[in-house]
Amino acid sequence: MYHADHNNDELPRFLLIHLDGLSYTELNRAIAERLTPAIARFVSDNAALMETYSLVPTNTLNFFLRLLADPAAHVVGSRWQQRTTGRTVDIRHAGSLHRIETQSRVSRDGPFDNALLFGTLLGAKAYSAGMVVSNRTWGNILRTIRILSSSFLPVFFSSPMGWSNAAVVGRIDAMGARSIAAAMRSRQHTVVYICLSQYDQYSHKHGLRSSQSDLALQACDGLVDSLLQCANNYGYLPLLFSDHGLAPSSPFSEIAGKELKDVLKLLCPNSVCKIFPSGNLAHVYIENENNDLRGQTLFNVAQRVSEIDEIGLVIAKIGSEQSVFFKSGEEIDASSVCEKDARLAPALRRLAGHRDSGDLLLFGAIVNDRAVNFMHQRACHNGWSLSQTQSFLAGRIALPTDNERDIVKLLLRATSQAR
Ligand SMILES: [Zn+2]
Repeated sequence: MYHADHNNDELPRFLLIHLDGLSYTELNRAIAERLTPAIARFVSDNAALMETYSLVPTNTLNFFLRLLADPAAHVVGSRWQQRTTGRTVDIRHAGSLHRIETQSRVSRDGPFDNALLFGTLLGAKAYSAGMVVSNRTWGNILRTIRILSSSFLPVFFSSPMGWSNAAVVGRIDAMGARSIAAAMRSRQHTVVYICLSQYDQYSHKHGLRSSQSDLALQACDGLVDSLLQCANNYGYLPLLFSDHGLAPSSPFSEIAGKELKDVLKLLCPNSVCKIFPSGNLAHVYIENENNDLRGQTLFNVAQRVSEIDEIGLVIAKIGSEQSVFFKSGEEIDASSVCEKDARLAPALRRLAGHRDSGDLLLFGAIVNDRAVNFMHQRACHNGWSLSQTQSFLAGRIALPTDNERDIVKLLLRATSQAR
């Protein structure tokens, strides 16, 4: 077992394997049902497996930014409106690929051996890939990530490549695994990282525990198997982790029997409500002629929206600093949103306080054990229920036993050994 105070001239080398969307509960289910023999062997063979949590919105891009650039970096979901330009930001779509490629080429002499793959990874979750982090210039790595991420975020996406491309993801995962294996063989890098997102994609489209989602998990396990062997051969310490969990979900329109836009139109007849669905979360931007839907009026609208059975929680941005929480038509104290997890309330306040988040933040309710989803998905994240914020970390490293269970902090600590 590797300890953080390890005193050895040779820097440790890390293989980071990111299994997108796989919760601690679902990982244990997969192990028990023998779907993932390679991960099961890794966990039973003297590795620590722990339950971790990610904060809302549980979002892969958010996780990348926090893991690699800045623990405080924050995106507000998978779709939102950039208030300064009015542009739509949609991180699920790959329309900006060309632009990101161009950006990557500029930094080709920089620290990334496969900057193109990284740009792809960061720019479009639909295209997961391997990434290699060089060992010498950590500061440059962080700068490059910041440049890539800030140049990416304002882009308007026009060529949707949504969930139907899950099969493509499997092939790209495999390509990424080959590039990561080659990187370990070369031993030129202290940290190598791969995101495997087939499981997440198939679960969104077909549902948790669907045959398609289980097959995707089995395919990921095959890649994990070869990566672990390679790590063993070339002296890399493997860490397996996920960024968030998923909850079974049903589309809002299916449960409510009407579209969210029609519901809002009835409640705000004199305003234009722009809805940006993001799984279990939706940002709503409200415009009216006098641009005066603030204060008491917004308060009243939020209260009425929260009376809808399919809406579990509403946060209204009453002022730039002030947000008010509503449940079932009542204003509630933020700290009572989730008594089981005290970290949720500050995370929600931070989300509502973000410049680009909506005037109203809607979170789907749990109806018949399924989260109400504002998109057409059978499993979702971005929301506030516990299964969505549940992730895991497994590795042969000494893990802290205190309450500091934030996966990002753990990984930053682990990777900081490599600086
Ligand atoms: Zn996802």
